[in-house]
Amino acid sequence: MGNPKAFLTIHRQEAGYRPIHDRIHDFGEVEQTLNANDRRTQASRCMDCGVPFCHWACPLGNKPPEWNDALCRGDYELAYRLLNSTNDFPEFTGRVCPALCEKACVLNLVEHEPTTNREDEAAITEMAFHENYVRTEHPERNGRRVCVVGAGPAGLVAANRLNLAGYSVTVFDRNEAAGGLLRYGIPNFKLNKAIIDRRLEVMHGEGVEFRCGVEIDVNKLPDGFDAYVIATGTPTARDLKVPGRELRGVYFALDMLAQQNRVLAGMEFNKDQAVSARGKDVLVIGGGDTGSDCIGTAHRQGCRSVTQIEIMPMPPAGPDDPQNPWPAFPRTLKTTSSHEEGCTRRWNVNTLEFLGKDGRLTGVKVQEIEWKPNPEGGRPLMVPAGKPEVIKADMALLAMGFLKPELPKVADNVVFAGDAASGASLVVRAMASGRDAAAKIDNMLRGAR
Ligand code: FAD
Repeated sequence: MGNPKAFLTIHRQEAGYRPIHDRIHDFGEVEQTLNANDRRTQASRCMDCGVPFCHWACPLGNKPPEWNDALCRGDYELAYRLLNSTNDFPEFTGRVCPALCEKACVLNLVEHEPTTNREDEAAITEMAFHENYVRTEHPERNGRRVCVVGAGPAGLVAANRLNLAGYSVTVFDRNEAAGGLLRYGIPNFKLNKAIIDRRLEVMHGEGVEFRCGVEIDVNKLPDGFDAYVIATGTPTARDLKVPGRELRGVYFALDMLAQQNRVLAGMEFNKDQAVSARGKDVLVIGGGDTGSDCIGTAHRQGCRSVTQIEIMPMPPAGPDDPQNPWPAFPRTLKTTSSHEEGCTRRWNVNTLEFLGKDGRLTGVKVQEIEWKPNPEGGRPLMVPAGKPEVIKADMALLAMGFLKPELPKVADNVVFAGDAASGASLVVRAMASGRDAAAKIDNMLRGAR
């Protein structure tokens, strides 16, 4: 480390977001970047712990002490090499990862000021692309062919690893472009899609074949491959089957998010197809990250107001919350950039009915509830705690998670990866799972040689 005691004198500094009045008018990334000097100073805060919990907390086994050390000394090339040794695409996690490594950082114990690993990661990777440290490899082919179904982060990592190990890899995706939820779920204000295109270009140059716009029947996989990775995600959103669900104006979150990302990519939708919040009072049902992405998107589309309701209680504000008798890690109250832009947030609210006129949504009947201990044990009981009330809304977005898909019975040479295998999760977990899938296939096919 440049200065082994830096953490004692230097405070955590985040780059922060662009000002609300500026960012609210466009879909550009909200996050700013520190200058190179401040970035290196931040990297110097890493204590290089003897037992680094950050390694353990990251599903990819990232090594922040090693690459923070290189970053703090200004050796971006080494920093990228170390970072990339465990993380195929740090430019994605550097933007959208909840940074489990930071939650596990020992500096949380001192001042609740962990190292800025996620931002450091993004900065290292941007420099690596800028300085051409991200090289196009030309792996020697081993004569084996692998089919990857699904080009989300899990499928892309599996494809990348197998390709670099010498397999000829073809990636199929039913969408018109690769990226999965990175491209068609996560809004551009969190992840600019040029970042995905840039990585796809490298993979393409290294020999990965992409066949987009092709839906594969996973019960009848295409012939001609030695092994298969199925990384098809969790395409079915959880529905809310209450009266009025059929009204125009009630949508799944992804109806809006995916369409907005397509519009930004140049696709056009007519008035009947458009899922737009322009001029509307929007109710987001679901208090998680997908709901938050809907809020940010609704603002940028020009909504009149936005309210977010969640059926679960409000999480504690943090580990030191006096109301919270339990260790709060990792679920504490999260306020995203989208919440900062303006939103009424409510917890312990159940949805009873969608109300409408002439087939269009006009409001949502809801009721406050309480969670009581179940005398018979098991899950707490939900009991009404207030009178039903109506929230005025002409757009409702269902952001209540995704159902875990039923996996088909498959042959021994098929491996599942990402959300398809685990249920809806995180980009970093999908990437780790894609890496494991590639290792499994490599072991299997090496054994068969
Ligand atoms: P996916 O990304 O879902 O990719 C699956 C791919 O398979 C898709 O491209 C799909 O078209 C394709 N496919 C499916 N079936 C077929 C078929 N039969 N034939 C061909 N192709 C097929 N995680 C984070 O860590 N940070 C975030 O900020 C974050 N934000 C999110 C925001 C939203 C709105 C959503 C919905 C999720 C978010 N997540 C976030 C979760 C994260 O995006 C997912 O966990 C991750 O993308 C899962 O990766 P995957 O590769 O398993 O699946």
